Amino acid sequence: MNKKISLRNFQRNYGTNAQCLEAIKKLRFADDMECPKCKQVSAFYPVTGRTSYACKLCGYHLYPLAGTIFEKSTTPLQYWFFAMYLMTQTRSGTSAKQLERMLGVTYKTAWRMFKQIRLLMDESGGGLLDGVVEIDETYIGGKGSNRAFKWHGNEKQKEILMGMLQREGKAYLKHIPNTGKYTLVTQIQNNVSPTAKLMTDELAGYVNLHKLGYEHEAVNHSRKEYIRGEIHTQNIEGLWGGLKRGIYGVYRIVSKKYLQAYADEYAFRYNHRNEAGMMFDILLRQIATVKVLKLS
Ligand SMILES: [Zn+2]
Repeated sequence: MNKKISLRNFQRNYGTNAQCLEAIKKLRFADDMECPKCKQVSAFYPVTGRTSYACKLCGYHLYPLAGTIFEKSTTPLQYWFFAMYLMTQTRSGTSAKQLERMLGVTYKTAWRMFKQIRLLMDESGGGLLDGVVEIDETYIGGKGSNRAFKWHGNEKQKEILMGMLQREGKAYLKHIPNTGKYTLVTQIQNNVSPTAKLMTDELAGYVNLHKLGYEHEAVNHSRKEYIRGEIHTQNIEGLWGGLKRGIYGVYRIVSKKYLQAYADEYAFRYNHRNEAGMMFDILLRQIATVKVLKLS
């Protein structure tokens, strides 16, 4: 399922609020389930004008949106679905400004929708990376280059992202406060199996990784060395390129407070790059079944 979903097919499946609600109900409840109230196996039918389903036998109401990011929202469900569609089917993402125009909602609404959806795109709890793992850091923002890009408000300093990428596998991206040894090693130990073979540059924070049990090779970028056989960090560097094109090109202004959320969105798309047609379903399942997070 590597093909993207056409907008036409998407609209056919999720063009109405009722279709979207039905999709969430299907993910959360079996078709023939025991009613929590009358304790009989029953069918549930949609209640007109509400976001609930009622038991055919006793009238008990089920609320499929309870506990999801949609629960308290006054934004139509089909708008939420469309926002998720854009996030999974565009390569570099979509800005809140674009969503505002497309849906005719306020900028604030568009921004909050993306923010909430992004919270459920963090997949870094999904197990340790193994095999050959490339590790690299990159700087986002700052003065000089990328002038079109600016941090929100008065934030001027560069921010650091650390990437850990398993070849032929997933990537985890982390917004880190510095490139000190403790910071880097903690991230590696939390996210990469000790049986992995690590590929890094020659940054001081990466020396002595073998003392922790990791097999470790480094390329010496300062000596203009970039590839020595399988020893390179080209995959993670390629990912940085795409991420920066997105952040600088699409979003223009990013608050450093939300840099991790943007990074999660990119990692999500990268990690599902070979299943583009499934990406929307994967995200929907995540949103429909994961307990809602408390937002500020
Ligand atoms: Zn019942």
